[in-house]
Amino acid sequence: MQIIQTVREMQHWSEDRRLERKTVAFVPTMGFLHEGHLSLVREAKNRGDVVVVSIFVNPMQFNQSSDFDKYPRNEAQDERALKELDTDVLFMPPPAEIYPDGYQSAVEVEQVSQPLCGAFRPGHFRGVATVVAKLFNMVKPHCALFGEKDFQQCVVIKRMVRDLNFDIDIVSLPTVREDDGLAMSSRNARLSAAERETSLCVSRALTAAQELVSGGQTSAAVILQSVQQILTQNAEVRVEYASLCHPETLEEVELISGPTLLAIAVWVGEVRLIDNCVLH
Ligand code: AMP
Repeated sequence: MQIIQTVREMQHWSEDRRLERKTVAFVPTMGFLHEGHLSLVREAKNRGDVVVVSIFVNPMQFNQSSDFDKYPRNEAQDERALKELDTDVLFMPPPAEIYPDGYQSAVEVEQVSQPLCGAFRPGHFRGVATVVAKLFNMVKPHCALFGEKDFQQCVVIKRMVRDLNFDIDIVSLPTVREDDGLAMSSRNARLSAAERETSLCVSRALTAAQELVSGGQTSAAVILQSVQQILTQNAEVRVEYASLCHPETLEEVELISGPTLLAIAVWVGEVRLIDNCVLH
């Protein structure tokens, strides 16, 4: 596995692969890799002749600098995991390579960045769209893979790729969960044992909502009431939002009449967790 740290070297490497008529599959991450990330890398191997994984904790998408500082990192372990999967390139640029002095541009995807996480993390999706657009120009992939765990992020990236004519296939893959249902996340490492147990209310709420819909319930208000009740059984949990919305426009719905996104964000102690599912 080659480790590349500069933009210029990354661009040259990809250009050379393209001249050899090889397809480049790309998985952008912020590191502290778990099975969720690795599922994307495995699928990338099926989708491209060569695979590039980036690790970059993007300061522009953190609206609180304390959250950025506390973001878990373990480069040695990440390197080992990616080597085991035969990743071709690990792209690990230092911040000054991505945001050099005088940097002042941004990508804004307007409507779909506003609800859900966008309403509580001002500037977050502006930071995400900007860094992903920049990484696309550095890695020059034919296809890029993202996890549905960050459902709104997938919607924002797909919209950006269509709107700005990036010639890149965007693939989204299902959320990988622990055996007990908790969605894997780098942030789970910051949960205490008790908080980890409390966090299971999120996946329980998703399952309960799916059961209501399977049983014929179509009222968003009734489903959200049940979701709120499950989430607030433990006083440790602070619900940021629980929303039922259209999976492409992210507009809230009152009646379930087709596939509908149930998206949840909660704080368990000091840790913010998000999860979602599409109700059928
Ligand atoms: P992150 O390092 O959190 O920025 O995540 C990098 C990529 O991995 C994003 O596309 C995430 O959506 C995806 N990802 C994170 N957690 C999971 C998970 N539990 N299952 C599947 N994909 C995930």
